[in-house]
Amino acid sequence: MDYTAKLDEALQRLHDEGRYRTFIDIERKRGQFPHATWTKPDGSEQPVTVWCGNDYLGMGQHPSVLASMKEAVDATGAGSGGTRNISGTTVYHKRLEAEIADLHQKEAALVFSSAYIANDATLSTLPTLFPGLIIYSDSLNHASMIEGIRRNGGAKRIFRHNDLDHLRALLAADDPETPKLIAFESIYSMDGDFGPLKELCDLAEEFNALTYLDEVHAVGMYGPRGGGVAERDGLLDRIDIVNGTLGKAFGVFGGYIAASAKMCDAVRSYAPGFIFTTSIPPAVAAGAATSIAFLKGEGGVKLREEHQTQAKILKLRLKGLGLPITDNGSHIVPLIVGDPKHTKLMSDMMLEHYGIYVQPVNFPTVPRGTERLRFTPSPVHGPREMDALVHALDALWSHCALNRAEMAG
Ligand SMILES: *Cc1c(COP(=O)(O)O)cnc(C)c1O
Repeated sequence: MDYTAKLDEALQRLHDEGRYRTFIDIERKRGQFPHATWTKPDGSEQPVTVWCGNDYLGMGQHPSVLASMKEAVDATGAGSGGTRNISGTTVYHKRLEAEIADLHQKEAALVFSSAYIANDATLSTLPTLFPGLIIYSDSLNHASMIEGIRRNGGAKRIFRHNDLDHLRALLAADDPETPKLIAFESIYSMDGDFGPLKELCDLAEEFNALTYLDEVHAVGMYGPRGGGVAERDGLLDRIDIVNGTLGKAFGVFGGYIAASAKMCDAVRSYAPGFIFTTSIPPAVAAGAATSIAFLKGEGGVKLREEHQTQAKILKLRLKGLGLPITDNGSHIVPLIVGDPKHTKLMSDMMLEHYGIYVQPVNFPTVPRGTERLRFTPSPVHGPREMDALVHALDALWSHCALNRAEMAG
């Protein structure tokens, strides 16, 4: 057996399909986000502006978050030193979980190493708690949900993206006595479109199903206190399990679920992905708790308004140039280039010639023919950065001779 040859084959497959990923090595500059330094493959450095990050509100450089983290490091050291069960539960973890539970108006919350792990660990454990459980999953759900559902050995039904009629038909076809759970997202990250949360909750109620909502791209950014789209739409009490991340708008690291005390107790007690792993460092928990608390208040309201304004301005300006952006009313701005070569070329040229960093998004993350550049404007992107981006895109779109919309509206 030639193991090295097998690795070569596996990697070559990705190259052949144009799916081989190269990482761009950047160092963000605290206090100067979205500015960063790019270290090129030859070791030389170039200043860049990041336009594809998920630190949507710039909380990763917020002074109060950094102060909390430093304080916790000084007070308690680096790591937690254990799993939650064996010496790894601290006041920092307890405070963070209380902050999260309050954010979503739930009795309890559980912190995981990431939202990926939170989805995977929770969804793969639920059939143990509800024998015979059928999970109804939106076809565009995140890989972490798909993985958890796939691994759990239970029954699953995939409904077409946001298709309520299809979901209804699937629910109606199953035994009314079987336990059921509907899993969906509030904002789908590649098109920036919203899930029909109210209608999904209505269906869940009608068919006596539990609801599982991934709010990863909404927590911190939507709702009066940053509780997400369910908070904005007054649906918190109709969601049984909320999933969120501490690594995107909250600017730190980690993930969680929030739910009833009993649900959290059961997941805590049964999910291997929660039990058999070192808990997050106290400093990370402290920073995340401070970030959540900050975004619940007036400061958060202001950042959320600025965030939405920035997204609206960018969309308006790109539409004004006739560039084919997808506008689903959220903060995410996808520019559809439509083939992998041009998308990669534009991304490369933006970085090299204009110092603008936006990662190309290709199949299988998005369907073939919809390859895109996905921009994430934020309150830390000023008018100067926005001008530079718009001018670069205008020039490159012409350079690549790509189509524009007929006299854009
Ligand atoms: C990023 C993402 C996750 C995973 O969050 P992490 O905390 O980065 O692991 C889960 N769900 C969705 C929809 C995401 O986009």
